[in-house]
Amino acid sequence: MGDKILVTRSSMPPIEEYFDEIRDLWNTRWLTNSGVKHTELEKKLCEYLTVSNVALCVNGHQALECILEVFDLEGEVITTPFTFVSTTNAIIRKGLKPVFCDIKPDDFTIDADKIEALITDKTCAIMPVHVYGNVCDDDKITAIAEKYGLKVIYDAAHAFGVRVNGKGVAELGDASMFSFHATKVFHSVEGGAAVFKDEENYQKINLCKNFGINGEVLEHAGGNSKMNEFCAAMGLCNLRHIDDAIKSRGDAVRRYRENLEGIKGIQLSVVQDNVESNYAYFPIVVHPEEFGKTRDDVVCALSDNDIGARKYFYPLTSTVGDPAGVHLQATPIAEKISERILCLPLFEGIGIENVDKICKIIKDLA
Ligand SMILES: *Cc1c(COP(=O)(O)O)cnc(C)c1O
Repeated sequence: MGDKILVTRSSMPPIEEYFDEIRDLWNTRWLTNSGVKHTELEKKLCEYLTVSNVALCVNGHQALECILEVFDLEGEVITTPFTFVSTTNAIIRKGLKPVFCDIKPDDFTIDADKIEALITDKTCAIMPVHVYGNVCDDDKITAIAEKYGLKVIYDAAHAFGVRVNGKGVAELGDASMFSFHATKVFHSVEGGAAVFKDEENYQKINLCKNFGINGEVLEHAGGNSKMNEFCAAMGLCNLRHIDDAIKSRGDAVRRYRENLEGIKGIQLSVVQDNVESNYAYFPIVVHPEEFGKTRDDVVCALSDNDIGARKYFYPLTSTVGDPAGVHLQATPIAEKISERILCLPLFEGIGIENVDKICKIIKDLA
């Protein structure tokens, strides 16, 4: 049997490296509010993400709420229900109304051809999600946004370090949110960041994340979304090893593909052209008509072998707040994918033998 394989496992820097990073804090005793680690991490992330501003936050969700606060939006936001519930909740919690657009069946991102039909005179923004690190069709989305005067805010929680046509994914849209949660490709234990196209907004989010305090002027009823120095220090350490982490994930993903490509009824995510992936997740779609077994059968078979897999994303977020699970809008493709999707274990150092073991269990089911 061997050890349990969970669906994810956090990357960790060598412990001595973290000790060295936090040692200064015992001298300075400056533990939060834009300390030296925070400042240094923002600077290093600007370089890594090839952008001019990165505002660190306590987590990705708060970064998303702060972005909405900075833009001071009202009305409807077009998004997809095939995401982590944070995307939808941020919209609702900021007094906005989510309007759900369907997704594409091959890369699971928003179907840009279906956005325009959802626009009303109340629409103020589009919030697409780079799911699993797959990049949304930014050209089409931006063209629509420009035509109707809408903001484009990307939930880029899965897309840290992804590049498309030689451009960093953080360069797309009016703003992007990244999550540095412990389970993400790059993490600071908990953490996140907002990146804006318009640099002026960097000053605004710094107010939003610190109660709206500007010197002695209380400018805005802001909350508290600051990242502390211990988290920033973890981020600095992990950033030094990020290329190795992504390489290790890439090796596992290639092995998964070699094993699973061509199995009838197992659909893999399309590999997008001109995209340098971060290999954040390895989703499969189980089509029972062809595979003979359902997604839930695969979950059980893996679980019987002490292997965790995650129904990510299930259920759709268009049911938020409704215990009966009624969808606000019909998104049939998202609904079908959500019933059939499964993310297989993927993390730095998972090991080829574990990938083979997982694939053999799936193959034996067919
Ligand atoms: C992780 C995640 C978030 C939230 O980020 P936190 O850092 O956990 O707050 C939002 N959206 C998506 C798609 C995510 O995967």
